[in-house]
Amino acid sequence: LAGRSFHPEPTRIQVGDITIGGNEPVVIAGPCSVESREQILETAKAVKKAGAHILRGGAFKPRSSPYSFQGLKEEGLKLLAEAREVTGLPVISEVMDPENLDLVAEYVDILQLGARNMQNFHLLKKVGQTNKPVMLKRGLSATMEEWLMSAEYILSEGNPNVILCERGIRTFETYTRNTLDLSAVPVIKHLSHLPIIVDPSHGTGKWRYVTPMARAGLAAGADGLMVEVHPNPEAAWSDGPQSLTLDNFASMMEDLKSMQALF
Ligand code: PEP
Ligand code: MN
Repeated sequence: LAGRSFHPEPTRIQVGDITIGGNEPVVIAGPCSVESREQILETAKAVKKAGAHILRGGAFKPRSSPYSFQGLKEEGLKLLAEAREVTGLPVISEVMDPENLDLVAEYVDILQLGARNMQNFHLLKKVGQTNKPVMLKRGLSATMEEWLMSAEYILSEGNPNVILCERGIRTFETYTRNTLDLSAVPVIKHLSHLPIIVDPSHGTGKWRYVTPMARAGLAAGADGLMVEVHPNPEAAWSDGPQSLTLDNFASMMEDLKSMQALF
């Protein structure tokens, strides 16, 4: 169902008045984690002003250590919904397990399935039984074939609204957190009708490389970007080193507009 032969026309996913997979690239921006009302509202207003289309923010966080901050959970979802109210931006947040699916789906416009859950087949089937748009991130070491098969789990349950997200894969390189595999963009475009978003934040792990790789992602033909932004990255509760400041995000957007990668 994910293949071009089944569905030759590109899939367009409508979220409010935003089209993902249409003619114009879409920018999803916001903090890794929702931390407080002030933090999410300040970020939401700033990214909106700079031209972002969708607000992101984690409320359930898949952390490598069980002792790290795990997210504000429902409180975080409420704050995201409040930020949507204030800015009009649709919101996306990660769902980590089937138990919380109904709860997350109640608040968000797009469900995010994280890299660590790309092959959680039970969760894939459950989100496939909803009609919410789903952004499926590529697994930490997943091949493109495995990734598309995971999309197939969602599609085959009846939910056609799948967006793929390239977020870097694990390689021998350690200077960057992951290796952003931009070849995934043309390969997925060739094999599939599904939209693909590039995440240069998790893809590099260092804010300095985010703008160049965002540029490269759009040049490769991605349908949009997902970028982490924080008012004070040094104090961020997660993924500070890869987060753009509000000013750096605005500069990135100017940069992309000047290269006519964004409108
Ligand atoms: C995230 O988007 O903050 C995240 C946890 O991403 P990934 O699943 O790609 O690591
Ligand atoms: Mn993150």
